[in-house]
Amino acid sequence: MTNGNANVAIKPEPRPEVPDLSMPFWDAARDHKLIIPRCRPCNRFFWYPREACPNCLESDSWEWQEVSGNARLHTFTIVYQPQHPAFQEDVPYVFAIVQLDEGVRLMSNVVDLDIPEDVEIDMRLRVKFDDVSEDWTLVKFAPA
Ligand SMILES: [Zn+2]
Repeated sequence: MTNGNANVAIKPEPRPEVPDLSMPFWDAARDHKLIIPRCRPCNRFFWYPREACPNCLESDSWEWQEVSGNARLHTFTIVYQPQHPAFQEDVPYVFAIVQLDEGVRLMSNVVDLDIPEDVEIDMRLRVKFDDVSEDWTLVKFAPA
């Protein structure tokens, strides 16, 4: 999808695919809440949402639980050449693996900082909800 000028990004940006299993996550994000699956038998959080807890393999015995939104930067890369043209005007941006204080790691973006000089492994982060449209809120992170 282009308008004939390869240098101009075409919105809208692509949106996540939403299987039924992860719909509560996106609904909560729209309400600016971060929820993560937590297994009832073993009490551990896990990510991504799936039928069975990956720790104890108990099936269908987990629930969504709101988490603190506090995290640390586990690892990252800085994207200068986006894979999709809709992100052309966003570069450079931080593509990150973020570890929540509750232990699980999510793929996200770190925003509201100078790139690359302020990006640092282990830096403290706080969830930030990005209302990209009326229907979609993305879960990102900013320096705490
Ligand atoms: Zn479990």
